[in-house]
Amino acid sequence: KVRNQHEPEFLQAVQEVAETVIPYIIDKDIYFGKNILLRMVEPERAITFRVPWVADNGEIHVNRGYRIQMNSAIGPYKGGLRFHPSVNMSILKFLAFEQVFKNSLTTLPMGGGKGGSDFDPKGKSDDEIMRFCHSFMAELCRHIGPNTDVPAGDIGVGAREIGFLFGMYKKMRNEFTGVLTGKGRTWGGSLIRPEATGYGTVYFAESMLKTKGDSFEGKTVVISGSGNVAQFAAEKATQLGGKVVTLSDSSGYIYDTDGIDAEKLAHVMYLKNEKRARVSEYIEKYPNATFVAGSTPWSVTCDVALPCATQNELNGDSAKTLISNGCICVAEGANMPSTPEAIHEFHDAKILFAPGKASNAGGVATSGLEMSQNSLRISWTREEVDERLKGIMADIHDSCIEYGKEEDGFVNYVKGANIAGFVKVADAMLAQGVV
Ligand code: NDP
Repeated sequence: KVRNQHEPEFLQAVQEVAETVIPYIIDKDIYFGKNILLRMVEPERAITFRVPWVADNGEIHVNRGYRIQMNSAIGPYKGGLRFHPSVNMSILKFLAFEQVFKNSLTTLPMGGGKGGSDFDPKGKSDDEIMRFCHSFMAELCRHIGPNTDVPAGDIGVGAREIGFLFGMYKKMRNEFTGVLTGKGRTWGGSLIRPEATGYGTVYFAESMLKTKGDSFEGKTVVISGSGNVAQFAAEKATQLGGKVVTLSDSSGYIYDTDGIDAEKLAHVMYLKNEKRARVSEYIEKYPNATFVAGSTPWSVTCDVALPCATQNELNGDSAKTLISNGCICVAEGANMPSTPEAIHEFHDAKILFAPGKASNAGGVATSGLEMSQNSLRISWTREEVDERLKGIMADIHDSCIEYGKEEDGFVNYVKGANIAGFVKVADAMLAQGVV
């Protein structure tokens, strides 16, 4: 805690894991005696670098770039890049730490990492985004590789940015390899990768509901965010018979009591992905909906809540409101969107609650499938990838039950995910010695 005292998000993520893993390992000398957890919380490598770039008006800007290579015990480092002004060492270390456990849960051979920059893509032209991405990759390319570290997208890094980043990597290294995932279809990308995190979150929620003999059919679903994860969570929840009534961004949320069906969602995708507009513009086309500025959607009555925007977006009071409004299931699409207080509320009320490292693992799992396809130089069909994704999400759900089921039958998915993720990485570290 002293060493990382200026990193609150990182401490929050470590504390959540420690609270569940320490009781499990305390009487197991093989883990406890070897200080495995202490070794896991220190990144194997944390790189920061200067990213200079020239704006359209000729002005020179400098941002800070990062790559945290957290743990490579079970495979090459793997984890997204985030471009957002809030990015700092604490945020990226928390994300990299979570990624280690998440990647382990997928059963694929991937270590954990995360990176990005405090660059703000909002309001930048395509040319500015390109120049920034090229400058970022001109340095990052020394530290990554298809067998070393394979970054992907995250907040502010979508298909456009992955394209620019890949182009510069290829130029600098003179090689065409699967060094990034989330690539375009015609140059090594996998079908279903764009959909995977959102779809996977809904598949996981579906498995949870199934344990209660329930399903998405007829459920009212509240979703936060309107980016990659939120869009495809909304699509799959609707396909499974749910009615999605909210989406949001950092300016507020839209509430459509009629439901955001496929046609309306296509408009949201146009607004966010092509026009790069605010979600509030939705009400210009659908005036029956309302826009609530500066607020999160957790006060809206629902059966299922899917936080898909950012960390710590759902606090204890919001959790209480969701529970008192009858919410029975919360599955995190974002990373650590629920505060520790919110998680305690969900556990006290004994409702279904899935932490992101389990429920949003479909994205990185499909990135792992993209790596396999690149290595084999083949391309699987949409159905093949979707089936594998469904299988992986079902396996993660089973692992959570194996390690998280309590005496009264309640499944603590946080405990289950943390211990299941920990065991595999810890065993690999033990086998490899103190390195
Ligand atoms: P996008 O950039 O596509 O979308 C992010 C969404 O969250 C936008 O609607 C954005 O609104 C909103 N948001 C971002 N920051 C804030 C904030 N501080 N307050 C309120 N809203 C905010 O990112 P993704 O959809 O890819 O990522 C969303 C979450 O899912 C993140 O936590 C990410 O780490 C996690 N995740 C993503 C994966 C993926 O495959 N993409 C995989 C696993 C997890 P605005 O446009 O106003 O900024």
